Amino acid sequence: MTAYDYDLFVIGGGSGGVRSARVAAALGKKVAIAEEYRYGGTCVIRGCVPKKLFVYASQYHEHFEDAAGFGWTVGESTFDWKKLIAAKDAEITRLEGLYKKGLSGANAEILDTRAELVDRHTVRLVNTGKTVTAKTIVIATGGTPNLHGALPGHDLCITSNEAFHLEELPRSIVIVGGGYIAVEFANIFHGLGVETTLVYRGAEILSRFDHDLRRGLHEAMVAKGIKIQCHDMLKSVAKGEDGLVVETLNNGTMNADVVMLAIGRVPNTHGLGLEAAGVETNAQGAIVVDDYSRTSVENIYALGDVTDRVQLTPVAIHEAMCFIETEYKNNPTKPDHDTIATAVFSQPEIGTVGLTEEEAGKRYNDVEVYRAQFRPMKATLSGRTEKMIMKLIVDAASRKVIGAHILGHDAGEMAQLLGITLKAGCTKDDFDRTMAVHPTAAEELVTMYAPSYKLKDGVRV
Ligand code: FAD
Ligand code: NDP
Repeated sequence: MTAYDYDLFVIGGGSGGVRSARVAAALGKKVAIAEEYRYGGTCVIRGCVPKKLFVYASQYHEHFEDAAGFGWTVGESTFDWKKLIAAKDAEITRLEGLYKKGLSGANAEILDTRAELVDRHTVRLVNTGKTVTAKTIVIATGGTPNLHGALPGHDLCITSNEAFHLEELPRSIVIVGGGYIAVEFANIFHGLGVETTLVYRGAEILSRFDHDLRRGLHEAMVAKGIKIQCHDMLKSVAKGEDGLVVETLNNGTMNADVVMLAIGRVPNTHGLGLEAAGVETNAQGAIVVDDYSRTSVENIYALGDVTDRVQLTPVAIHEAMCFIETEYKNNPTKPDHDTIATAVFSQPEIGTVGLTEEEAGKRYNDVEVYRAQFRPMKATLSGRTEKMIMKLIVDAASRKVIGAHILGHDAGEMAQLLGITLKAGCTKDDFDRTMAVHPTAAEELVTMYAPSYKLKDGVRV
C-alpha cells in the first residue's frame, strides 16, 4: 500500500477550503492546506465581509439626514476614506488570524504558498518547489474577476479586488455590469459621495431576480442620484487630461476618475496542473464535478466557486461539509442547491428565496401572487420616499409558498428566515395562521390575505 505524506491536501484557503481542512483535521486526519494570498479567501479578504463594512459606512449620510425628522440636529459631518480602509484592514487581519487559529487548533498544517497539481496524488508547493503527496485532494481555489480582455483600455480599469484598496476615494466612478457586485458597489460609492454611473448591457439590472424588485431597486437608485444606463456597453477606456475617458455604445462619452468592471468571475484553474492530473474542466474553465463534488479523478474533489455551481460563501461551506460526510463519515451526501436564500446588499436591500414570478409562471399552471408596496414606518418621520416591496409567490394547487421576495431595509435578514419556511415546504395557510409581530415591516408577510393577482399558464389574469 502506498504511504502518502497527508490524508488530505487542500488547495485554497477560502470559505470551502478552510472548512474542509479544519473539519478533516479535527477528525484526526493528517491535513495540509495551501493558500497563495491570504487565509479567509475572497469572502473574508476581498468579498462579503469588507463589502458589508463598506455598505455600513455608506449608509451613514442617510442616517444623519433621517435623524432630523426625529428631532435631532446633527452637526456638519465629514468622511475619511483612509480611516475606513484602515479600520476595515484591521478587522480583516483579525478575522484572518481567527481562520488560521481554527486550522492550527485542529492540527492542520498551514502552508503559505501557491500549490499546483503534478499528478493525481502529488502537489507542488510553488514557493519551495517541493512536492508532497496526499491520498485525497480538495481543490477550492475560488474565482477571480473577469478582466474583460476584449475591452480596449481594460488594463486601466479596476475590479472589486482593487476597490477595497483605493488610495483615494474617487470623485466619480463608472461601474460596468448589472449583477450583485455592480449594484452593491454602485450604492456603496454613491453613499460615500462619489458621482456614480452604472452601465449595464441588458434591459434591467439584476437579471436573475424578480422583476418587481429589479424595477423597484432601479427606481430607488435613480431617485438617490445614481445614473443607470441600461442597454449599454463600454466601447473603450482611455487616459484623458482629467481622469479616464469612457466611450459607450449608446450614450456617447463620459469622464470618470475610476472605471470598475463587475462582469462576473472566472474560475481559478489556470496553471493549476489539472491536465497533468486528469481533472476535467468545462468551456468556462470551471472544474466539472459529480453530485458529490468529486472530479473526473476519483481521489480529487472540487468545491466552491471553482466549480461554478452557485457562487456564494454558504454554498462553498455546505459543499465542504458534504465532502466531509462523503469522504470521512461513510455517509455519501450530495450538496443541496435547491431554494437558496440570498441577499443583494444594495440600498434598499434585496432579500429573496425561491422562484421569481416569471419562473413560477413557467413551472406551475396556477400561481397566486401576493404583493404589498408600502412606505416603512421610519420613513414617515424621516421624510424618505423609499417604498418597501414584499411578494409571496404561491402554487395555487398545493398552496405551497414557492417564492418570497423583499425590497427594503433588512430584506437580507428576512430572507434568511423565509428560507427556512420555504425549505420546510410551508403553505400560504401556514403564513396566514402565523401571528404578526407588530409594528414591524415583516408583519406584511403574514397579513396579505387575498392574492393581488393570479397567473394562469404563465399569463396574468
Ligand atoms: P475563495 O473564497 O475565493 O477561496 C479560494 C482561495 O484559493 C483564495 O484565497 C485564493 O487566493 C486561493 N488560491 C487560488 N489558487 C490557489 C493555488 N493554486 N494555490 C493556493 N491557493 C490558491 N457571497 C455571499 O454569500 N455573500 C456575499 O455578500 C458575498 N459578497 C461578495 C462580494 C464580492 C466583492 C465578491 C467578489 C464575492 C462575494 N461573495 C459573496 C461570493 C463569495 O466570496 C464566494 O462565493 C466564496 O468566497 C467562495 O469560496 P471558495 O472557497 O470557493 O473560494
Ligand atoms: P454576476 O453574475 O452577479 O453579474 C455579472 C454581470 O455582468 C451581469 O449583469 C452580466 O450581465 C454582466 N456581464 C457579464 N459579462 C459581461 C460582458 N462581457 N460585458 C458586459 N456585461 C457583462 O457577477 P458579479 O461579478 O456581480 O458577482 C460574482 C458572483 O459573486 C455573483 O454571481 C454572486 O454569486 C457572488 N456575489 C454575491 C454577493 C451576495 O451574496 N450579496 C455579492 C457579490 C457577489 P447579464 O445579466 O446580462 O448576464
